[in-house]
Amino acid sequence: MSLVIMKFGGSCLVNNHAFNKIHEITQLYQNDQKIYVSSAFNGITDLLLKLAKNAKKSIDIDKDMALLEKRHFDIIEQVFNEESDFYIAAKDWVDENLSRLEDILADIQEFGFEPYYQAKVISFGEILSTYILNQFLLSKGYDSIYIPANEIIITNDEYNNAYPYFDLTTSRMAKLIAPILEKPNKNLIICITGFIGRNKIGYTTTLGRGGSDYSATILARSLSEIGIHRDIRVILWKDVDGILAIDPEFVPESSLIRYLDYDEAKHIANFGAKVLHPKCLEAIEKLNIPIEIRNFNKPTEISNFTTVSPKSDKNQIKGISTIQDGIIITITSGSLVDMPGILAKIFKVISKNNISVSLVAQSATEISTSFIVKKEDADKAINSLKKSEYFSEFFEIKSEEVAIINITGAKVLDNQTKVKIFQAFAKKDIQVKALSQSTDEINFSIVIQKENLMDAVTILHEDLFEDFESLKYKENKN
Ligand code: ASP
Ligand code: MG
Repeated sequence: MSLVIMKFGGSCLVNNHAFNKIHEITQLYQNDQKIYVSSAFNGITDLLLKLAKNAKKSIDIDKDMALLEKRHFDIIEQVFNEESDFYIAAKDWVDENLSRLEDILADIQEFGFEPYYQAKVISFGEILSTYILNQFLLSKGYDSIYIPANEIIITNDEYNNAYPYFDLTTSRMAKLIAPILEKPNKNLIICITGFIGRNKIGYTTTLGRGGSDYSATILARSLSEIGIHRDIRVILWKDVDGILAIDPEFVPESSLIRYLDYDEAKHIANFGAKVLHPKCLEAIEKLNIPIEIRNFNKPTEISNFTTVSPKSDKNQIKGISTIQDGIIITITSGSLVDMPGILAKIFKVISKNNISVSLVAQSATEISTSFIVKKEDADKAINSLKKSEYFSEFFEIKSEEVAIINITGAKVLDNQTKVKIFQAFAKKDIQVKALSQSTDEINFSIVIQKENLMDAVTILHEDLFEDFESLKYKENKN
């Protein structure tokens, strides 16, 4: 028997129709052992966050609590037969947990807002949704078990962007989950809350926004290490077919990437395509666990989805992703060439301000260094450099709005591909502002003027058409 860990996002849990889809999917995977990881219902995490932040000043609390209850009751009323045991259990669960939530909001009002409280408050989204899913599966005759992830995923103390301790998590899983999976039972489903963990002293933590995907991969990794199953796979059910080769905002006929390896997926995921977080890939790549990204509305598709696994054709371009508004900051000085520690000095100032840098290019002459930051961080970055004595005296600091195009896939490293890229840009008179490619990468980043972005992506798509895996894939299919 193989094990499939499926994550259902908020958009898969919106009404009766969606819950029936989950039932349909469950039947499709009847021969596998199943773990379901669930996100909060759509929009609920945002609503909880608002409650946590408004608690101190008591703004909108009653109104938002009522809305929270209504959103969950609406679904319960659609999904269950009224007055059935499942209906009553689900409603009671919502009531009990909302009153717990009220206690925490009262604590925030009394003691002030702390990151710990935020994690605790937003964890209720998954606690409610997953329990309701569990009741739904029980009502359909499955042996479904609800397990809150804060019993099994052990993390550091970063309450709202926690990092799991994999070995501690694996020990917990070995104790609590492995014994259940050891007895083969096709009717069994383990429902685990996404997004949530706990630190060593037992406080609830959360894995960062969108973290339920991460939960699914953390569980997969631990179970693979425990070794009951040789065949484990993760399926992330989404409201899209998978990862697209190019954002349809630029190229409406863009098609799906069928296969990516972990490195390719990390580049594509990191840049623009919000479908998958790179930390999910990091969690499982060494264990070669495949991840499928599938469309919840088309569960019977046999080939139209993205698989991330070691299997990927290296002689292709996989995708083009973009950052639409970056600011490139350039620091120039002729007087300090060959001076050790210059980069360290620049990035010390930047990191002190907690600003993340996405691309760095330094001329080999060391006269100028450029790097890219998010638009919202640019003023802070420039001002702090200008204020630091060292840079104000010897350096000129410039900045400009730019876009970054990121082309991923081993083929981008070919000279011939690069020739095509630059010829394409020349046709449209697109100036390249900076470039980045490191020696072991399957990725080429090009910085251009922001207003050229649409032209640049369109012409690259046209001129590199035959180098894309996904486009070939679509062609073969017809
Ligand atoms: N509910 C959490 C969020 O909205 C986690 C998730 O959906 O994956 O960020
Ligand atoms: Mg969500």
